[in-house]
Amino acid sequence: GAAAAPALSVEGLSRHFGSLKAVEDVTFEVRAGTRHALIGPNGAGKSTLFALIAGALPATAGTVRLHGDDVTALPEHARAHRGLVRTFQHSSLFLSATARENVLMAVQRRHGVQARPWGAVTRRRGLLEEADEILRQFHLLDRASAGAGALSHGERRQLEVAVALATSPSVLLLDEPAAGMSPADTQAFQEVVLALPREVTVLLVEHDLDLVFGVAERVSVLHLGEHLITGDPAEVRASEAVQRAYLGA
Ligand code: ADP
Ligand code: MG
Repeated sequence: GAAAAPALSVEGLSRHFGSLKAVEDVTFEVRAGTRHALIGPNGAGKSTLFALIAGALPATAGTVRLHGDDVTALPEHARAHRGLVRTFQHSSLFLSATARENVLMAVQRRHGVQARPWGAVTRRRGLLEEADEILRQFHLLDRASAGAGALSHGERRQLEVAVALATSPSVLLLDEPAAGMSPADTQAFQEVVLALPREVTVLLVEHDLDLVFGVAERVSVLHLGEHLITGDPAEVRASEAVQRAYLGA
């Protein structure tokens, strides 16, 4: 039944730029409730595939499914409305508002739209308490009254994910979350991802392989636009094809 459907699946997904096959016939699944990473050397097609999944870029061919439903024809905002939400590498925060106000706006937006299972639990509580709970989860409660623009780089990245989570996504897409983070911030971020509720499936694209292998239960590898392997971290590390791709051989 529907419960068995993967949270996300791509089937034969391609994106060509002229004669360049940036993403070529990629097929893999992201199981519901897992933390799944997408990796690959520079130019592998990660950002392009991510944009195809989010709906920011139309596919040349293939299908994207969310919980079994074909969403290939839907634009990004319609996919977001269905629970497929991404954070942006470039901040989408309101920098003049406080950290709390940023999260609260997302919580309010959610209560104005459709309900999700995770939302149903918090529905009976006040919205402010809900926002503060999310801030606490991200270790930002003591920074609640600070302007988002006054936060450190690492705190801001955490707040971006907190805001995305406040919309109660079923699938959270994280685009290079550790980019520009200090090792301490990356470590804190890793703990936050590990503490996310299982109702949220996470797909992250990340260069920092320590973070990838610190959080991911499943890993998909792209190389020159093609899907090499999807497996658990041990399988992926042991793959000769993956080792060759990373050595540039
Ligand atoms: P990654 O994120 O893994 O480094 P990208 O998805 O950014 O890889 O790029 C994959 C390939 O597609 C690269 O060769 C890149 O130059 C090319 N590419 C990406 N976006 C465009 C575009 N808008 N126009 C033309 N080529 C592109
Ligand atoms: Mg990229």
